[in-house]
Amino acid sequence: LAKVVEIGLDKPAATRDQQRINVFLNAGLSADTSIAVNRGVDGVGLYRTEVPFLLQRTFPSEEEQTHQYQAILATYPNKPVVMRTLDIGGDKPLPYLTIEEDNPFLGWRGIRFTLDHPEIFLIQVRAMLRASIGHDNMDILLPMISGIAELDESILLIDRAYTEVAKVAEAQGKSLRRPRIGIMIEVPSILYQLPVLKGRVDFISVGSNDLTQYLLAVDRNNARVAGVYDALHPAVLHALKHIMTMSQQLDIPVSVCGELAGDPIGALLLVGMGYRSLSMNTRNVAKIKYILRHISLAEMEELAQYALSATFADEIRSQTTAFVDSHG
Ligand code: PEP
Ligand code: MG
Repeated sequence: LAKVVEIGLDKPAATRDQQRINVFLNAGLSADTSIAVNRGVDGVGLYRTEVPFLLQRTFPSEEEQTHQYQAILATYPNKPVVMRTLDIGGDKPLPYLTIEEDNPFLGWRGIRFTLDHPEIFLIQVRAMLRASIGHDNMDILLPMISGIAELDESILLIDRAYTEVAKVAEAQGKSLRRPRIGIMIEVPSILYQLPVLKGRVDFISVGSNDLTQYLLAVDRNNARVAGVYDALHPAVLHALKHIMTMSQQLDIPVSVCGELAGDPIGALLLVGMGYRSLSMNTRNVAKIKYILRHISLAEMEELAQYALSATFADEIRSQTTAFVDSHG
């Protein structure tokens, strides 16, 4: 307990000079979302709905999904909970659905799969909306969007589900808030289409895991090329800076939910670039809050500026690590 008090885990995250940073949770298993473990977070920045799907023997019914989603929304009343629609395929095959492909990460993944199975998508979105009746805190996040047609098609389906569930809610004398809709920024093609998102999405969330994988053309789970996979690669950092700049210009709220946000060096560089919302696994929350609290915003900006001028990931890592070490 003393340690918790010392770290100030219950307190909101801020830099040494009191710039408030939103720290959200990445979750998937209900155990992840236990409020006892996660006091002092600002909400759930990424709820990976595929995790409960992976644990079942068959597709969960609309009822089952509704109960699962309700539990999470109820755990974080008055805080945003970002529910991502099914992101299976790639490294996450469902045991009850065989997809055989030579290049699964370039294949039938995320939104590509669900748009080819609108019945699965609609059941899931209806379950999310039904769960959100009486809770006003749900946002919907779409994975693996590579072009605007996928987004528009998804919004049409969400609107259809919304109309259906709103009627159910109305019959019960309740109202249903239209969820905010956002997309993952994780397929590089979308980096060049950010202006078209204006008016279409309410927020964006950067998936640095896949963004790194696809920018560097490196399988994020292949040990042979693990040395090539590096989220501190200058190309990735410049992409992150570009997203930040565009989100400010377009006035679209942005957060980062890939592993980089829960990494001490990553978090400092992201805040230094201008990011104010980071979403991470439970185990990283205390560490990131602690590190943010010991370094000022100006120092983080300087670090980010340096990183964006550097040529090699290794020098960025060693310089930033040395800086962190010198601050205890
Ligand atoms: C990501 O790609 O960074 C991300 C958060 O999504 P996932 O790891 O589930 O693909
Ligand atoms: Mg991803």
